[in-house]
Amino acid sequence: MDINLLNRDEAAQLRDLVSSVNKVALLCHINADGDALGSTLTWARYLEQQGKEATVIVPDMYPDFLQWMPGANKILRFDKKTEEAKEVLSQADLICCLDFGNLQRTGSWLVAELAKSKAPFLLIDHHLSPDINAVLRISRPEMSSTCEIVFRLIWQLGGYDAMTKEMAVTTYTGMMTDTGGFTYNSTNPEIFYIISLLLAKGIDKDRIYRNVFHVFSVDRLRLTGYVLYQKLKILTPQRASYYTLSRDDQRRFHFIKGDAEGLVNLPLQIKGHRLSISLREDSEKNGLVWVSLRSVDDFPCNLMAEEFFNGGGHKNASGGKLYCSLPEAERIVREAVKKYSHLL
Ligand code: 5GP
Ligand code: MN
Repeated sequence: MDINLLNRDEAAQLRDLVSSVNKVALLCHINADGDALGSTLTWARYLEQQGKEATVIVPDMYPDFLQWMPGANKILRFDKKTEEAKEVLSQADLICCLDFGNLQRTGSWLVAELAKSKAPFLLIDHHLSPDINAVLRISRPEMSSTCEIVFRLIWQLGGYDAMTKEMAVTTYTGMMTDTGGFTYNSTNPEIFYIISLLLAKGIDKDRIYRNVFHVFSVDRLRLTGYVLYQKLKILTPQRASYYTLSRDDQRRFHFIKGDAEGLVNLPLQIKGHRLSISLREDSEKNGLVWVSLRSVDDFPCNLMAEEFFNGGGHKNASGGKLYCSLPEAERIVREAVKKYSHLL
């Protein structure tokens, strides 16, 4: 199987770019997920193996269930270690943007900082329509995850033999989380060929699965039950549903970041269901509601997210935000579902 990703020119460009730099900053999007962390950590380790100084900067907090990832202890959080992170960015001779295509996805503080930067950008991403002005753009929306792209790049650059078990772990984690444990967006046989190459590095995929998916607190499990039982609103004719997670709900179940992770996928277990939407009130900012959308088959939740929720994403997994109250957000959801009912 040929899992190389780049054409000859691109491969040469990437090789030249990597060999010409010394200090590299690697960035991912706000609310980093397994793929964002996995791809930055893996690419950083690869760069280090090439003798580079590589620093991963994440805009803000990331979920507890990813803290175990090898190398996570070395990550710089921009919101906490702002001065240190700014220093890294100003010294960098290359800034790698992984798992996002628009600078706005790094949050307003970082956007302002990046605008000042003179270093060239390298984009490695699988989102639709990236607009980052990069010297080399490796944009592959057809890939399941940025981790899959990073693996293929390392493979193509001849780095597989030197790949450590830790790098295989961080790569597998992102491939696994962006496909819901290989339950969606993962029918390409090459994905499983790549997995076999990762397994050959000695990773324990079952343990990685448990580390990520079986780490609920009692509160989180009960919150899941509560949402499904009390909060889920089914829009039967449209085969869609939504739920709200108010600040009161969050207080009641001692909500911490990550507790709602994956929750929005559950209503899709209803037979014939096509679309699930989550509306979560921000725990601090008034009038801010985080929106998550999940769909099956050809329903384009990214288009709905762009049109109604100030966001975007993938066809089957998108997100965005609304600047309004929860009842107003519910009204917008109903309007959006109505407008898209011909596709549902
Ligand atoms: P989640 O529901 O997990 O927050 O987001 C699902 C997917 O939607 C993410 O992987 C990300 O690609 C995309 N996404 C989430 N929020 C935004 C947003 O504000 N803008 C864009 N363009 N994509 C988003
Ligand atoms: Mn991703």
